[in-house]
Amino acid sequence: MKNNFTIKKDPNILVASHLKEFLTPQTIYLPINKEIMIKTSQKIINKSQLLFEIAENKTFSPISGKIKKIVNLNTKQYLVIENDFKEKQNNKLARNKKLTKQEVIARIKEFCPQLLKKLIKKDSILYFNAIKDNPYDANNLFIFKTYGNEILETLDILRETFSYQEIHLLLSEKDTENITCLTNLLGRYPFICLHLLPNIYPLENEVILKKILNKDKINILKDTEVLILQKALLENEPLSEIYVTISGNGVKPFVVKTKKGVLLADLLQEFKIDWQQKVLVNGLINGQRISQDEMVLLDCSCLLFFIEEPKIPSPCISCGKCLNYCPMGCNPVDQKRMSSCIHCGLCSFLCPSNLPLGKEHQNENLDTLF
Ligand code: SF4
Ligand code: SF4
Repeated sequence: MKNNFTIKKDPNILVASHLKEFLTPQTIYLPINKEIMIKTSQKIINKSQLLFEIAENKTFSPISGKIKKIVNLNTKQYLVIENDFKEKQNNKLARNKKLTKQEVIARIKEFCPQLLKKLIKKDSILYFNAIKDNPYDANNLFIFKTYGNEILETLDILRETFSYQEIHLLLSEKDTENITCLTNLLGRYPFICLHLLPNIYPLENEVILKKILNKDKINILKDTEVLILQKALLENEPLSEIYVTISGNGVKPFVVKTKKGVLLADLLQEFKIDWQQKVLVNGLINGQRISQDEMVLLDCSCLLFFIEEPKIPSPCISCGKCLNYCPMGCNPVDQKRMSSCIHCGLCSFLCPSNLPLGKEHQNENLDTLF
């Protein structure tokens, strides 16, 4: 990287300091595709019941209720489940003893088989990347405060099962609250250590992380993956809930614990949030902009609401920022060397002319602006 970039927090945007819950949505939307045959005879389902499996990805119901219908939202198909608010469990085994290695692997296969290949040892260290590139994403703070011990216990089980020498818990050196919270819990786990990295963007990205760690082959888990494994190994259940930070200059920020598959419109209605001019999903710099209230919350970590004037693109002024800060050495202004673009969004974010750069814009006609 020619120049490292650090995101500076806007003093006008507060960081979420309290947790709310929305665990009783009326309906849940789960993505399906054409190949999935839903057993129409089986309309009543329990919470945590396996509904279908695509490749190695299993979909479990986050609520108990009735299968209502299949709908199209934003060109995707979803199975709609109506909540009966009974939260009947399909849980077979309580947590009562230390799991054997075979039992650990059996639970991973049962609840999250897609994660097994991420755990097969490539290096002596298993990394848990708890760094958030988005400075307003406060999920981990609440997750560590609530489940810090369970997360460390889960990581230690994985270390033993897959024969890692150590677990490195990656945090930004500026993330003082999480560093303090986890340092207080680490005493019981001699093989887990904090590994602090400089506060540069984008360290959530695995390609950049490998460059910074100077390693080609590594095993890395992300926060959601660790939560899925924690549920599977300690509670013998699939993960049904997600955390979402609501932030930006258009709302009073908070973190919400909610069900997977909640419709964003239902969440906004619950907390009386008005739809604003600009909403970014999962990121300040490379967040996907959404404009309709048809979004289903599945892997959503953060929603940023902004009130701002639309930015009008103007001709390139040859400032060189996009070239100098691209972490992959691409040339977005001339659309050269773009094969290694990781869609980090930095070039567009830094461009003083508000030009849409990056690989995804290769085919757009920008001639009039350059
Ligand atoms: S989006 Fe692609 S081209 Fe732009 S800075 Fe990131 S890696 Fe480089
Ligand atoms: S495209 Fe934007 S960031 Fe890149 S040189 Fe031109 S004005 Fe600067």
